[in-house]
Formats: sequence, structure tokens, C-alpha cells
Amino acid sequence: MVYLNYKTKRGDSTMDKICTQEELNRKIKRVVITQEEIAAAIEKAGKQISEQYDGKPILLVSILKGAFVFMADLCRAISAPCEVAFMCAKSYYDGTESSGVVKITMDLDRDISGYHVIIVEDIVDTGRTLNDVVRILKGRNPLSVSVVTLLDKPSRRLVDFKADVALFTIPDFFVIGYGLDCGEYFRNLPYIAEYNQEG
Ligand code: 5GP
Repeated sequence: MVYLNYKTKRGDSTMDKICTQEELNRKIKRVVITQEEIAAAIEKAGKQISEQYDGKPILLVSILKGAFVFMADLCRAISAPCEVAFMCAKSYYDGTESSGVVKITMDLDRDISGYHVIIVEDIVDTGRTLNDVVRILKGRNPLSVSVVTLLDKPSRRLVDFKADVALFTIPDFFVIGYGLDCGEYFRNLPYIAEYNQEG
């Protein structure tokens, strides 16, 4: 299987320029998870979080940019009082392989001690980003740290990492939509699609 360099997200040269709608449409191979399926799974996860943390101080931490759409929908599915915060974490890669270096490019602007932190992530792939983010946030004295991810690709794991909640488990292919990009495009698709590397 030929992979585009999906860590730099620039490996597919057709994505390096401004694309027309037609060109972008050709890159959408098939819908993998529909808008309705996403909505139903988020409603369920929101209820679960509300029950589990009701009456406790919750801070939802979204990892930008990929998780911004998921965060927007998940926080509205949670009925318990909660606060939100954002951070940007980037994995650095050597070619197509992760070098395992994760850098916080935009940190939280607040103290997290006294909160049950729930990290809201788009996808767990090798697991390196979240492994590091969890370690960093645990070092800041929160009441607890847990992870909710929209998508999980367990077959790609390079470190021993497991999200507390994964809404969907998918095989090893590159996905776009619902916040996930390729070359910064496709984040606005309301569904998850498989990216067409040939199109
Ligand atoms: P990890 O450290 O788990 O390898 O990296 C997770 C990050 O890699 C995700 O937050 C996302 O930015 C990117 N990533 C991994 N798999 C995919 C994929 O299938 N599609 C897209 N668009 N990004 C992915």
C-alpha cells in the first residue's frame, strides 16, 4: 500500500496548491462514517461523560486543529457543567516515519489543577502524540486525565497507548473530514471519508 506522507500532510503534491472543488471531490474515495453515525455516537459519549462526571469539575481539552469539530459537537452533548480549553500538539516525523518527538506548539492558557481533564482528540494513530500529551498534562497536577477520541487506528500503534473512549475503530487507511484534513483541506466535510490517493 502506498501512503501519502500523512504526517507532514504535504506528501501528496496535488495538495500543495490551491485546488478546485472538482479536484477535491476526486480525492474523496468513499464515505466511511456518515454524519448520522457520528451524531449518534457523540450523543452516547456525551451521556456517558455527563453521568460519569456529574457534579465534578470537568475541563475538556481539545487538540487542535483536527479535533475542533468533534469538540464543538461533544461539548454540546454533555449536559453536566464543563469548561473547554485548547492546545496544539504536533508530532514531528522523519520522512513517513514518526521520530517520536511531540512538541506543544500552543499550550493551554490556564491552570488545570483541580480539574478532571478530558482530552478530546480526532484520531489515535501511532499513539505517540497522546502518549506525550497525557504525560505532560498529568505532570500539572489535575484530578485526573482521560482521553476521548473520535477515531482509533489500533493497527498503527507504535507505543502502548489506549484511549479511555474511542467512538470508532477503523482499519489502516488515511481518512479526511469532520475536522481531519489533507493539506488543510476537507476539515469541513460533515462525514469521515477515505482519502483517494490515486484521484
Ligand atoms: P499519532 O501521534 O497518534 O501518530 O498521531 C495522531 C495525529 O496524526 C492525528 O491527530 C492526526 O493529526 C494525524 N493522523 C493520523 N492518522 C490520520 C488520518 O488517517 N487522517 C488524518 N487526516 N490525519 C491523521
